[in-house]
Amino acid sequence: MNNNFFDLSEEIRELGEKALEMAAPYLEKIDKITEYQQLKMLKAFQNAQVSESCFTASTGYGYGDRGRDVLDRIYAEVLETEDALVRHSFASGTHTLTVALFGVLRPGDTMLSVTGIPYDTLQGVIGIGEDSSGSLKEFGINYEQVDLLPDGCVNYEGIKNTLKPDTKMVYIQRSRGYSLRPTLLNEDIKKIYDLAKSIAPDCIVMLDNCYGEYTEISAPGKYCDLMAGSLIKNPGGGIAPTGGYIAGKHNLVEACSYRLTTPGTGKEIGCTLGQNRELFMGTFNAPHVTGEALKTAVFAAALFELMGFEVTPSYNEARGDIIQAILLENEERLISFCQGIQAASPIDSFVTPEPWDMPGYDSKVIMAAGAFTLGSSIELSADAPLREPYAVWMQGSLNFHTGKTAVMLAAEKMRSLKNKKTK
Ligand SMILES: *Cc1c(COP(=O)(O)O)cnc(C)c1O
Repeated sequence: MNNNFFDLSEEIRELGEKALEMAAPYLEKIDKITEYQQLKMLKAFQNAQVSESCFTASTGYGYGDRGRDVLDRIYAEVLETEDALVRHSFASGTHTLTVALFGVLRPGDTMLSVTGIPYDTLQGVIGIGEDSSGSLKEFGINYEQVDLLPDGCVNYEGIKNTLKPDTKMVYIQRSRGYSLRPTLLNEDIKKIYDLAKSIAPDCIVMLDNCYGEYTEISAPGKYCDLMAGSLIKNPGGGIAPTGGYIAGKHNLVEACSYRLTTPGTGKEIGCTLGQNRELFMGTFNAPHVTGEALKTAVFAAALFELMGFEVTPSYNEARGDIIQAILLENEERLISFCQGIQAASPIDSFVTPEPWDMPGYDSKVIMAAGAFTLGSSIELSADAPLREPYAVWMQGSLNFHTGKTAVMLAAEKMRSLKNKKTK
């Protein structure tokens, strides 16, 4: 079969074959998770009696929008929570998490982050740092933090020593984000949940579930009271054009709905403007697409390990998100890698990404993104700040076939550098 559409050397093709062999048992495991999650999703669609009438566009107040309510029910079922709030009107993951935090926290409450400092964009929301205008802090909500251990693992002793019986919220971030710490698995989240409830039975355990959906057989719904995520990551299946979800205990989701719209109207209003069909379709496809992204990450880990680079997680490790970090050790390689990924994208493949001074970063950053949806990271994308430890974070791919080729093209671009790694 002639599939020489792309310029790959014999060396990279052979390494790719070898990486595929190494990864095979782990790709098979991913297929099993995907199949389970995909069938669970199909069942949830049937249980909620999705019909074509769910795709009708509502306008104005959006009273009685059946599709909106049915989609909420599907999320609650697959995430194993009591209730959910899924809306295209969440502008980003950060917005969704912000609505959840402001929805349930009140002046005088304490929010305790137990996975170290939260994701960059949440820091301004909480009021960490200088400009805290409009933050939780400005509204009298206290923030405390238990740092991760030096190896990046959860500091359970530290949680025991910091958590008080009247702490209102224990906040968990599942994904590594743009750090090198390990991603939490559902079993880790359960351990934190059990510990938190043994000390503060009334606390709200909240989970930033970004990038974690459908990566494991179990769902974290039983191990947290409230969670939130972005629809331009895993749960939107690469089809949802924007949006977010909140899921959890019924009374907490209701409190969040009062913050999203108004106290009193909550989930009863909010028109869907014809977005429902894409939201349903993306939701239905999400387990499969997440599996494709996971496979791309595992293949990348295997290939770059073969090339002598340190990767995290390794190809054979259990995964709780779709992110792959590769330590490329210098600036030149980071740039080549991102340019290789960009050149393999369906959109803007002819564009050459360059490092730039991104606001909020103390070094230049290079990004590769050739996506149908602006900022979508369930589509193949890569980011690298040009500083120690010279790591690139890649995630996504709508399908494994093109994801695998993109990873090989990134490797090929690096191979042509003079300071090629020899192992
Ligand atoms: C992506 C992400 C967010 C925020 O989502 P945006 O859509 O970028 O605002 C928050 N937390 C984690 C861990 C994320 O990965």
